[in-house]
Amino acid sequence: MEKVIIIRYAEIHLKGKNRGWFERVFVVNMEKSLKGLKHEIRRHSGRYLIENFEEGDIQTILERLKKVFGIHSYSVALKVSSDLDSIFSAAKQVCFDEGTFKVETHRADKTFPLNSMQISAEIGGRLLGDNRKIKVDVHNPQFVINIDLRENGTALIFNEFFKGAGGMPVSTSGKGMLLISGGIDSPVAGHMIAKRGMSIDCIHFHSYPYTNIQAREKVMELAKILSTYTCGTTLNIVSVTHIQEEIHRKCNGDYMITLLRRFMMRIAERVALKCGAQCLITGEALAQVASQTVEGMTSSNSVIEKLPVLRPLCGFDKDEIIERSRAIGTYETSIEPYEDCCTVFLPKHPVTRPKIADVMEEEKKLDVESLVEEALKSLETLNI
Ligand code: ATP
Ligand code: MG
Repeated sequence: MEKVIIIRYAEIHLKGKNRGWFERVFVVNMEKSLKGLKHEIRRHSGRYLIENFEEGDIQTILERLKKVFGIHSYSVALKVSSDLDSIFSAAKQVCFDEGTFKVETHRADKTFPLNSMQISAEIGGRLLGDNRKIKVDVHNPQFVINIDLRENGTALIFNEFFKGAGGMPVSTSGKGMLLISGGIDSPVAGHMIAKRGMSIDCIHFHSYPYTNIQAREKVMELAKILSTYTCGTTLNIVSVTHIQEEIHRKCNGDYMITLLRRFMMRIAERVALKCGAQCLITGEALAQVASQTVEGMTSSNSVIEKLPVLRPLCGFDKDEIIERSRAIGTYETSIEPYEDCCTVFLPKHPVTRPKIADVMEEEKKLDVESLVEEALKSLETLNI
């Protein structure tokens, strides 16, 4: 009896004419996620089957599939030929030792001599005869034995539905540039946008030697974890050391973060346009900290020339973000205690509601364009 994995996809079925393209991307993403493991992916009446894998790899395969966006649910099933004896012996294998159950049959093969109800009754009856510790309860069963009769003379028997990652296949919604710090929020923001089908490139700003090499490694690790959901990513690393020194030297220190944010946005937009990214993504959450006010966002948005800025966490509380961070596996890395560049020259009283006119007055003290150009020269791009 062969084990297979049934993959049911999420919203792709809603897409009209583009559906073929969505599905092709979806399969490519599954292939990437299962790279290095023996398997075959086949389309099977509105779903996919993963077959011909090594039985010992099954847990690894399931772990990886959990991270593939576009999967609504999946089940491990036994594949047998569609005759009642084979179906019964598979059903026996997936049947619990005791408890209440029902059998549910889906019959795509309309030539099969029994209808769905009759198949369920027949297999249910045989199971009852085989094990006295189980009882039928069609309304509130403790487990369900599903029988899926395919058109090609095979039947799939399974007892569990696992929830998939949901969302849309990565790279069906364009590409975004995630401003990734070493914190908790930005990886979660990237994950949320990737879930809606966007490929993610990352950009990180550091102030070496004020920030250390461990901070960089931490961000590389975060990008690596994120990349397991995004079918890979690139990490662009840019130094803002001189920018911060110049702000520190020439401007009112209370504007450090406000001004630095504007530089980050300018640089991120230029790198994004060069990489073909169509938006910027940040991990800002409204009112989470002093710099994340709507006035702060107005100030940083106003230097962006072409791209929209997505801030998927705006409506989230910190504890909700932490919960997600734990769920996606970035939390433990995010809380490692290395400094972000935002903590360098940290003002005692950062402006919380910057007025654009005041910000621009401070910014006049700097040669913005040459600082941006200089920072761009430090750009390093790593494939993760
Ligand atoms: P995070 O947990 O993502 O660091 P945070 O709550 O610490 O967020 P801030 O430090 O104010 O918030 O940063 C807000 C957003 O600005 C971050 O989510 C990120 O998108 C961007 N950002 C901050 N620092 C950096 C950095 N060094 N490199 C790239 N982007 C950054
Ligand atoms: Mg931060």
